[in-house]
Amino acid sequence: MERTLLLVDDEPNNLKALRRLLHNDGYRILTAGSGREGLALLEDHNVNVIISDQRMPHMTGVEFLSKVKDLYPQTVRIVLSAYSDFSVFTDAINHGSIYKYFTKPWDDKLMRINIQEAFQHSELSWKNNQLTRVFESTLEGIMITNTKSIILAINPAFTRITGYTADEAIGRTPKILHSGRQNKVFYADMWQTLLNTGHWQGELWNRRKNGEVYPEWLAITAIHDDNGKVNEYAALFSDITEQKRNEEQLAHQACHDILTDLPNRLLFDDRLSMALAHAQRNNSMLAVIFLDLDRFKNINDSLGHSVGDRVLQSVAGRLTRNIRQEDTAARMGGGEFTILLPHIPHADNAAELAEKILGAIEQPLYLDDHELFVTASIGISVYPGDAGQAESLMKNADTAMYRAKERGGNNYQFYTPAMNTRALERLTLENSLRHALKRNQFLLYYQPQIHLGTGQIVGVEALLRWRTEEGELISPAEFIPLLEETGLIIPVGAWVLQQACMQNSAWQAAGLPPLRIAVNLSARQFGQQDLVSHVLNCLEKSGLEAGYLELEITESIMMDAVDGKLEVLKALRHAGLQLAVDDFGTGYSSLSYLKRLPVDTIKIDQCFIRNAAHDPEDAAIVKAIITLAHDLKRRVIAEGVETREQLSLLHTLGCDEIQGYLFSRPLAAEALPAWLEQQRLDPHISIRRKAQG
Ligand code: C2E
Ligand code: MG
Ligand code: MG
Repeated sequence: MERTLLLVDDEPNNLKALRRLLHNDGYRILTAGSGREGLALLEDHNVNVIISDQRMPHMTGVEFLSKVKDLYPQTVRIVLSAYSDFSVFTDAINHGSIYKYFTKPWDDKLMRINIQEAFQHSELSWKNNQLTRVFESTLEGIMITNTKSIILAINPAFTRITGYTADEAIGRTPKILHSGRQNKVFYADMWQTLLNTGHWQGELWNRRKNGEVYPEWLAITAIHDDNGKVNEYAALFSDITEQKRNEEQLAHQACHDILTDLPNRLLFDDRLSMALAHAQRNNSMLAVIFLDLDRFKNINDSLGHSVGDRVLQSVAGRLTRNIRQEDTAARMGGGEFTILLPHIPHADNAAELAEKILGAIEQPLYLDDHELFVTASIGISVYPGDAGQAESLMKNADTAMYRAKERGGNNYQFYTPAMNTRALERLTLENSLRHALKRNQFLLYYQPQIHLGTGQIVGVEALLRWRTEEGELISPAEFIPLLEETGLIIPVGAWVLQQACMQNSAWQAAGLPPLRIAVNLSARQFGQQDLVSHVLNCLEKSGLEAGYLELEITESIMMDAVDGKLEVLKALRHAGLQLAVDDFGTGYSSLSYLKRLPVDTIKIDQCFIRNAAHDPEDAAIVKAIITLAHDLKRRVIAEGVETREQLSLLHTLGCDEIQGYLFSRPLAAEALPAWLEQQRLDPHISIRRKAQG
């Protein structure tokens, strides 16, 4: 620290003499000829010690220094006087305006020592000041005790944290803070460490004056006197309630799902391995339940994520309300949940719970203006019957859940080893399907659709086939669901649409009579954001007119779609495309709903046609559908027509078009022209002949 000295005297010789005297003592020396000059210097310089002559014109030394005292109280102020104005100086000393006075003439040696002492005084009081300020303003509580544990001093933070004022704390012992959460051994250890090392620090619980118990971080240090004997202890502590709360929150977040606050996979795995260890020791049984919400993605896609989130939250609530205290329900992500039953006397208990949960989830949910029906698929695996390890238990429960999905959802399945074989087959199939598009293994077959009145072929339905590596031709029923599940349907469906449009365009270019081509759309495709532009793009690329393309969407997909999708249908129709409801009659749609659907064609599902000729009830349904469709000004087409009886019945009922093996199986693209040619030669006759048998 630089030591700055200010000398004030109206006698230049005195200033000179002092300067010379102190020349080698390492001070920065400033000089002024009057009090006013001195004040001006003080404005610009940080001065520690001031020595001022007393007798000066305008302003005496004491007057000057008492001004300085008000402005710069930290300075050490000394008067130098040849006269013994004793009473003036003692007054000034008593008021604190000056620290000392020296007499003129001075003794050189004594003067140097005195000035040195003045600087030491200045530095000490600066330090003192700083320490006091730290003591008063620090956020840590500070408590000084003597060796008998009597509190000697505390700071304001102590009061803020503990609630005890200085009056209440000083003279007592830190026992006033004891919470009772630490036992005698704890304090004995603390003292042992303090005595051995002079330090102790750690976490402990104390009690505030208002009774509240709080965690604090405490550091105690022994303070030694000049002889090295401990005479005091200083304790520094901070309230770590907030920090503790944050830590707990972080720990909670690390093992819980943020959305539902259920345990997450991490915690679930942990509980499962603990439960397994326990079950192994006790030869007891446990169950893992794997639950996946049915078509949860649809909810998210169509109603938005915030609705999806609330669905998950209420499902979580329903799960926790239905399990026992010792069970764990966890969320794995998406619409997937797991439940651990750590101890069950019998596998039936898991089935009972699964049933209860299915029932609870099935209850309608009311969110905003939506009434939602959510269902779930559940798979169960049991230790020790199904697996011995946590991982395989989980995997098996997952496999069983898939089986429940395949069964149409809203049911539960116990794991069986056969499921693994199936799962493996599925996986193999999935793998080969992933490559099928790249390897050009997909192709389209075309099945003619015939107008019953004219006997003319009016369209074809494009039907997807997969020729495997081994040359096997596989029907879509076997792989479309998997394509749909894996999302592969998007690129494959795009290929189908493009291929169908190109083929139709090519036929027209080759001079064949123009035909309508029907393409099947899957649920996911229908859900695609950019469906309309994608379809229009295909038309443009192939040069096919929109009127020659028909999109088939099954009744159940249309029903699942939310109202927003009606706009998509309208846009497609507006662009000139034809729309058909496929598999009509199986989707339980209400008739009023049908009225609102902007479609051109209704395709009666094969299952009604199959028995229509023999089963009067099916015949009645077919008749009703045809009448209804005609009343609503829709075209009706019957699919799966295999026999003449069926044909003649449809003829009588006034069905517009038919499609089925009776006329043609789905044909390869190359085979269609020849078939057309044969039809052209004798269309009417062939229909009538067939119809009449
Ligand atoms: P779908 O759209 O109802 O197609 C009619 C199905 O009935 C076709 O089966 C066709 O071969 C079959 N069929 C036609 N006439 C008869 C008949 O007289 N008797 C019997 N028993 N069956 C007949 P396929 O080709 O196996 O297709 C099955 C389903 O796969 C289709 O049902 C359709 O839902 C779906 N599918 C086919 N191709 C595609 C496609 O490119 N994309 C999508 N998303 N689905 C497709
Ligand atoms: Mg179809
Ligand atoms: Mg169909």
